[in-house]
Order: sequence, then C-alpha cells, then structure tokens
Amino acid sequence: MTQDNNDKTKGSRRNFLKGLSIAAAAGSASLVTGCLPDVSEASSETLKLKWQEFFKKNYRLMTAAEKEETVARLERLAKLQNDREVRIDTTPPREKVLFGYAFNVTRCEGFMECVTACIKENNLDRKANTQYIRVFEMEPGQLDPSTGDGKYYHEVPVENKFYMATQCFHCENAPCTKACPTKATWREPDGIVVVDYDWCIGCRYCQAACPYYGRRFNWGKPDIPEDEINPRQHYLGNRVRPKGKMEKCTFCIQRSREGRLPACVEACPTGARVFGNLLDPDSEIRFVLKNKKVFRMREELGTDPKFWYFID
Ligand code: SF4
Ligand code: SF4
Repeated sequence: MTQDNNDKTKGSRRNFLKGLSIAAAAGSASLVTGCLPDVSEASSETLKLKWQEFFKKNYRLMTAAEKEETVARLERLAKLQNDREVRIDTTPPREKVLFGYAFNVTRCEGFMECVTACIKENNLDRKANTQYIRVFEMEPGQLDPSTGDGKYYHEVPVENKFYMATQCFHCENAPCTKACPTKATWREPDGIVVVDYDWCIGCRYCQAACPYYGRRFNWGKPDIPEDEINPRQHYLGNRVRPKGKMEKCTFCIQRSREGRLPACVEACPTGARVFGNLLDPDSEIRFVLKNKKVFRMREELGTDPKFWYFID
C-alpha cells in the first residue's frame, strides 16, 4: 500500500469514528476495535478468536470475567500465530497506592542502563529503536532537557556535565488523556496513565497534547528477537503491541502492581532512581519529597506530574 493510500485508510477510519458520539464510543460494547480479521491464512480457531477480539469492549467497561476471557484469547492467539507462550495478567490497582517517581540529578552518570532494561522489560521494537526513556547530557545551569544533548555517544560521565532523563511523567491532570477521541487512554486509580492498545486508533492526538514528549507511536509491527520476548506481560503494559498504536512508560505496570520495582529503577547502577507509594509515609519516595530539593518539569502547566527531579 502506498503512503497516500495509507493516509486515506487512516483518514476514513478517523472520519468514521468522528461521526460517533464519544460517550457512545466509550459506552458501547459493539464499537469495533481493530482491523478486520484477515481470513486468507487463519485457521478456524484463530479466525474465531480474532472476531471475538474485534468486538470486545473497552478494557474499562469489561467485567472481571470478560477481562479473563480477553487475556486467555490473547494468550491463545500468541500460541496459535507465533507459537509463543505468554502470560498476560490484568492485576488491578491496589487500595491506598499512588505511585510516584523521583530522579536524582546529582547521581545519574548517563550510563543508560535504564534505557536498555526498559527496552527488554517492555518488549520494545528493536528495529525502530523505540525508547520510552531519554537521557540528556546537560551543561551546568541547564535544567530543561530539551536544551540538552539527547544523542550523545561517548564515554560517560563527562567532566563538568550532568545527566537528566525523561519518560512519561504520569500526570494527575494529564492533557494526553483528554485529547483521545476514543477514550483509549486514561489514568488509573494508582496514578499510572495507560493505553488500551486495542482501542487506540493511532490518531496521535495524545502525543501532540503531551508537553513532555512522553508518548511513542509504533509505525511498524514490533520487531523483537523471539528469544528476547518477555513473556510476563500485563494487558495495559508490556504485551506485544499491534502495529499503529500509541505506547509509553507504564511504570512497568506488570512489575509495580506486583510489588516489584520498575526495570529502570532496578537497573540503575548509581541509585539515581527512586520509586514507591506516595501514600505510604515510610516510603523512600516520601523521604525524598520531604528531605531533598525537588522540582518538577514545567510545573506552571498545571499537569501535576508524579515524577520529581531532586538534588542531594
Ligand atoms: S507525561 Fe505526557 S504522556 Fe505522560 S501523562 Fe503527562 S501528558 Fe500524558
Ligand atoms: S493515538 Fe492517542 S489519542 Fe489517538 S486513539 Fe490512540 S491513545 Fe487515543
């Protein structure tokens, strides 16, 4: 298909969706959610599962039983189509948990171990070199990463430079979620901003609305070596995304909701990354917020990010 044809296809799907009421879009069980199943090479079981997928609800409207049916279907499809054993869970948010993240500007030395760990943990597209985290090399006095060097390629740390990383900041007042016409992206009660990939139509309005460059769009089918696929997945997290969807950091929802640290926090060799429950007065993140000099990116926007930078 040519680029023009591609654009027309996307355009007509957008126009179709524009014609529907947004409220109805979120509330209807019958709104289609993906590409029509391709009948040419599918087995009858694959085809049946694909049709069931095609008519499934928005994740937020599913009952617990429907969520279980959905992930069972996705696991079975992974087996039938790619001979891949995966476990996709739907672990919900826990009561009295609100996740927050803090980044120690004085400690980061720019090694990018976090970036590598994130790529592996979250099944990111290797061919397109998709990265949810960006690390910037900064000059003294700079505090806006957009003015730093995000493409450095040399030994680190460099004397008289410092390093700042960005990713999705999981804003409480997130402009990205408000921009989505299909309600495919929202903020969960534990503060994690998520995307239902099967409801995302790839319009990229959310990406345009994010003031922090927090979202990534996948233009092609994710390319991941078979033996490197992380089989422990979450429906709203690191499951292998279909082509043409919006993705982003989810605070490693498949780990954090099970009480584990995000992969980037675990991988950081200098301990520059702190993650935890903001509602727990004894957590390390609360200690940082209370005792360190903290600041947030572009605070004046009122987005209320749950991601702080701090200085020792
Ligand atoms: S950083 Fe961007 S993508 Fe993440 S919640 Fe905020 S506005 Fe949305
Ligand atoms: S690209 Fe973003 S705004 Fe568009 S449907 Fe997907 S999640 Fe929603």
